[in-house]
Amino acid sequence: MDYGKYKNARNASWQCILDYKINKLPVMVTDIIAKSNNIRIYKNSDVNKLQVGESGKTIFQNKTFYIIYNDTENSRRCRFTIAHELGHIFLGHLLINTPEYKTFAIREDNESEANVFARDLLAPACVLHELKAFTARDIANLCNISLEAARYREQRMRDLETRNAWYLNPLETEVRKQFDNYINSKSADK
Ligand SMILES: [Zn+2]
Repeated sequence: MDYGKYKNARNASWQCILDYKINKLPVMVTDIIAKSNNIRIYKNSDVNKLQVGESGKTIFQNKTFYIIYNDTENSRRCRFTIAHELGHIFLGHLLINTPEYKTFAIREDNESEANVFARDLLAPACVLHELKAFTARDIANLCNISLEAARYREQRMRDLETRNAWYLNPLETEVRKQFDNYINSKSADK
């Protein structure tokens, strides 16, 4: 994966879904990392690099991104943390030097972009739209994200459903196609 390949957070999440051939929920963030050639992942309990209260960080060394996540947090939270760090990497956010290594500068605009990327990657709106998954509980279960994150998604879905302007971006159309089998199998379940 090229660092900084993508620009806009929402488009980046679609492009990531397409590039990594993600075609069902829940999105497996560890599969994305396994397919990439320059991203590795570590539990903080193994490497002890996080400060108290930190959920995750990325260290850049020897042309490799090392995502470290706080594995004492629950798995749904960990998934979001890892997706957030992938957002920093794919969006090409600013790396700064610390005495030991390079890491992402903490800037408010970049943090919110990384959150948008994580949300759109783990809970792609057009797939939720096709599945008519509009409640926080359904979204949390389908996407394997926390109820807290799913409540934000529920609000966002309400806005998007009101706007009702799907598939204006060709990337979103491609994502919809890629999830076709999954959407059909889920719809048949109902
Ligand atoms: Zn961040």
